[in-house]
Amino acid sequence: YSAKRSRCGVALYDDTRDGEGRHRLETVEQLRTGISAGQLVLHYQPKLDLRTGEVDGVEALVRWQHPERGLLPPDSFIDLAESAGLMSRLTATVLDQALAQCRAWADAGLVLDVSVNISPTDLVDEAFPAEVARQLHLHRLPPTRLVLEVTESLLMADRERAVRVLQQLRDTGVGISIDDYGTGYSSLAYLASLPVTELKLDRAFITSMPSSPRAEAVVTSTLQLARSLGLVLVAEGAEDAETVAALGDLDCDLVQGYHVSRPLPPEQLAAWLRSRSQVPST
Ligand code: C2E
Ligand code: MG
Ligand code: MG
Ligand code: MG
Repeated sequence: YSAKRSRCGVALYDDTRDGEGRHRLETVEQLRTGISAGQLVLHYQPKLDLRTGEVDGVEALVRWQHPERGLLPPDSFIDLAESAGLMSRLTATVLDQALAQCRAWADAGLVLDVSVNISPTDLVDEAFPAEVARQLHLHRLPPTRLVLEVTESLLMADRERAVRVLQQLRDTGVGISIDDYGTGYSSLAYLASLPVTELKLDRAFITSMPSSPRAEAVVTSTLQLARSLGLVLVAEGAEDAETVAALGDLDCDLVQGYHVSRPLPPEQLAAWLRSRSQVPST
């Protein structure tokens, strides 16, 4: 297996599985190098407060600026990073960039919470809470400025350890959000026992809300649940004005979606925020 052969392996060999295996290995190596070389970049999607009409915070979403293949979406490399043992480094890089950006905004007079997605690996890593605290300290940010988003499925793996790590994170003061809420199989009793601060209702419910009274019933009852547990409810995936208005009528706390803004590179987000404050609110 010379370096030369592995470079053109995909094109030279018919055996698809073997080709895929080589392609995967090559991509893993590129990702390993790419993380060190600063090829991971973050785009930020606003979370809009429906009551005040102001941006409460942003979610950091990673992209890979691949030297040959262009800007790659997270779905194309997150699983790979996870299975190749690169996830801790990926999370550390994302956290560092997101907090540095949050610091830069704060220095410019812009107070925004920042949400970072974390993975199963992070939640079973007993050293992770200390790493988060170290990074917050390094970037001189209060823990309340950071929200960590975890998916339900992620909490299923090694429950006891995950809950312990979550509790430690919560004890440091960071917010904890359940992402894609409603798509997993966790019991309500289990979710209610977790040290969380936010529920993010999955896009599937939001998208079908205008056409489906059942989806609207799910949104309404989740909102009641969030209220009674003292949690913030975020609706993700609001793609049109009608949906945003309906969420406002239901008194949903925060909304994210293409209708508000797509995820943007930091400079564009700053421009978007500036343009908003110049336009009188309607
Ligand atoms: P997520 O955390 O649930 O993020 C929401 C995804 O929905 C994002 O896709 C976002 O661009 C997209 N989205 C936002 N508004 C709308 C909308 O109105 N309509 C539709 N159709 N889509 C919308 P993205 O950026 O491709 O991220 C996909 C997933 O990758 C994320 O889902 C998250 O699970 C994962 N991910 C992203 N960044 C990171 C990261 O830094 N670390 C880890 N571990 N996972 C990440
Ligand atoms: Mg998320
Ligand atoms: Mg906060
Ligand atoms: Mg989500």
